[in-house]
Amino acid sequence: MISVTRPFLPPKEEYEKYISDIWKRNWLTNNGPLLNDLELALKEYLEINHLLFVSNGTIALQLAIKALELKGEIITTPFSYVATTSSIVWEGCAPVFVDIDDKTLNIDATKIEKAISEKTTGIVATHCFGNACDIDAIEAIAKKYQLKVIYDAAHCFGTLYKERSILDYGDVSTCSFHATKLYHTVEGGAVTTQDPMLLKKMAHMRNFGHDGFEKYFGVGINGKNSELHAAMGLCNLKYVDQILEKRKEQCGNYDRLLTNLDITTPEVQDNCQYNYAYYPIIFSTEKQLIQSKIELEKWEISPRRYFFPSLSHLPYVKKQNTPVSDNISKRILCLPLSYDLTSEEQRMIARILLRVQNN
Ligand SMILES: *Cc1c(COP(=O)(O)O)cnc(C)c1O
Repeated sequence: MISVTRPFLPPKEEYEKYISDIWKRNWLTNNGPLLNDLELALKEYLEINHLLFVSNGTIALQLAIKALELKGEIITTPFSYVATTSSIVWEGCAPVFVDIDDKTLNIDATKIEKAISEKTTGIVATHCFGNACDIDAIEAIAKKYQLKVIYDAAHCFGTLYKERSILDYGDVSTCSFHATKLYHTVEGGAVTTQDPMLLKKMAHMRNFGHDGFEKYFGVGINGKNSELHAAMGLCNLKYVDQILEKRKEQCGNYDRLLTNLDITTPEVQDNCQYNYAYYPIIFSTEKQLIQSKIELEKWEISPRRYFFPSLSHLPYVKKQNTPVSDNISKRILCLPLSYDLTSEEQRMIARILLRVQNN
């Protein structure tokens, strides 16, 4: 079966080496040595100053919202994974959806100002599929209205904006290291910030609010991650450049193979060095998408409808009008992309798509 994302696995012996060391130490979690090694290695790789490894990308978002003390309304994108919106609602805030740009699929910065009210405290924007938001415009608005900015950079490992890791932007950026992501630790995620005080606050919050064994800094949650996950992260980090390179090559293959297919693909934002994390294609109609998906599934190829439905249609949010996102979410499909996807498999996928179109 060719799934939209087959997780990368490092050579088993390399993981086993870490496992034997863990057995020797019998230190499984709670800020262990491998966790520290991974945090240092990630900061070095990404060339950023502050990062915390947490249990997953959803907890990362919730820590960020909590630490920045966002209340009331949060401006956000309707085109993302559900965790972006559910984290806002889980933290007791109301998501206010601003429609997306039909080229980049990210929040349309020209529409943000109109959505700001006295209750607005922040912006949670997703760099969708690893493509940067219009960061300059968002930062300017945030400054003008004194809003905090969180970037959901779950797709962004390896993406650069103006030659710097995209995780270095916003008050906080969050990342996911889930097994389906380009770089993973099985389950895991990170928060990054340039503000050392905010980092300290999130570090306390990650650990139940403990400030030493018998003292508490404030309310916290369990956002820690384990030595076994950190070990996977250390193993995979050695291969991430190869993974990034392979992704670029595979996306180039799809570009060539699909030139005669009646689809469009998103445009990369100016100043963004893209990581090729996903290969989304936008059909002219939902009918074409459904026919193509059915045909691919007959051959045990499972693409995913990232992202459908538009999050403004979630049953637990107030109905809001996001026509661009509604329209695109019905017609967009992410094609399989993973380290072990072969060019023969890509040719087969392209053949099937072209056959459906030409029938
Ligand atoms: C994967 C993902 C998340 C959630 O990350 P987990 O590590 O699975 O909790 C959040 N936002 C986006 C955009 C994602 O794709």
